[in-house]
Amino acid sequence: MDSFITFYKDPLFSIIIIIAIIVLVAIADYTRNRFKAKKKKVSLEALAKNFDFEADSDTMNIMDISKYPISTLTFIANIYVKNGNFDEAIKIYLTMLDKTKDLKNKMEIFELLGLAYYKAGFMQRAKNIFIEILKNNPRNLEVLSLLMQTYEILGEYKNAYDVISCIEEMEGKMDNVKNYIQILMLINESLMPLKHRESEIVKLNKHSKESNKITLNYLKNNNLKKFWDLILQIEDIYNYIDILWDIPNPPLQRIASHKGICDIYRSKGIIDDDTSCDIFELEVLRVMNKFSSKKGNLIFKYRCSSCQSNYPFESYRCPNCNEFGTMALVLEILEKKDEKNYSLL
Ligand SMILES: [Zn+2]
Repeated sequence: MDSFITFYKDPLFSIIIIIAIIVLVAIADYTRNRFKAKKKKVSLEALAKNFDFEADSDTMNIMDISKYPISTLTFIANIYVKNGNFDEAIKIYLTMLDKTKDLKNKMEIFELLGLAYYKAGFMQRAKNIFIEILKNNPRNLEVLSLLMQTYEILGEYKNAYDVISCIEEMEGKMDNVKNYIQILMLINESLMPLKHRESEIVKLNKHSKESNKITLNYLKNNNLKKFWDLILQIEDIYNYIDILWDIPNPPLQRIASHKGICDIYRSKGIIDDDTSCDIFELEVLRVMNKFSSKKGNLIFKYRCSSCQSNYPFESYRCPNCNEFGTMALVLEILEKKDEKNYSLL
């Protein structure tokens, strides 16, 4: 017994114990990582099998003979994506996935495949891929951002809101996007009483200018009085001309003190006086309405101030560069044809 106690107190014994513990922890950690890597691989392979595809023979050949097949094929697929030929790009990525065994390479190809599906408009598939990538790498900011946008497009606003909260932890506050998503959640919340929903939307909108338009569009359809209350507080009306353009009976007394809003109805001939409009396109229409036999109309386009792309429909995120709140209204004058001159035959 004494000899055991002496051995127990021996510093060499403590060192042996510590080394044994370190070895055990290292083995446990190695086994756990191996198990996790295997699980990731199985789950990614299961996802890849969900997509029906016919292996691309050219891609298979390049995979077999090229020294750097992944960079070569990624380059080719990227050209297809840039030219809008998503089918070809997706076929290449799926064939690459089928032939690639390395987990890191697989993850990179999955990310490119997800992006190709996203750009091609296959949102459900893009969503599944982004979720799978994030299971393996939850701090992949680019994929988090794509997943948030995918949820937005799919109308899954609650999920989009949760993803924004994850991004905020890494990137800092994104209050304007959060407010916008919260307003969308409220608009689509069919169980909430209308009055309560409306006051919540107006309350949220006070904190961000980016959600002004979506709030105004909601009020225009649900509470015209509140619509005018809000729009009369906006000084520079240019970006809101499209919302105001098709209102048939504007409350002329209420808007009388707002020169910008009055100009819109001046250009349409609803307000008939000799005051000039400040915005060029409105003034052209006003003068035509008053003095010419030709009539004009406005058409609206939306231009991203970040990438300068033009779109016929408004969106709160640029479909090309994905920037939020960069779309600005562009006015164009078109000759108004007399519809009576056209025969339906
Ligand atoms: Zn853009």
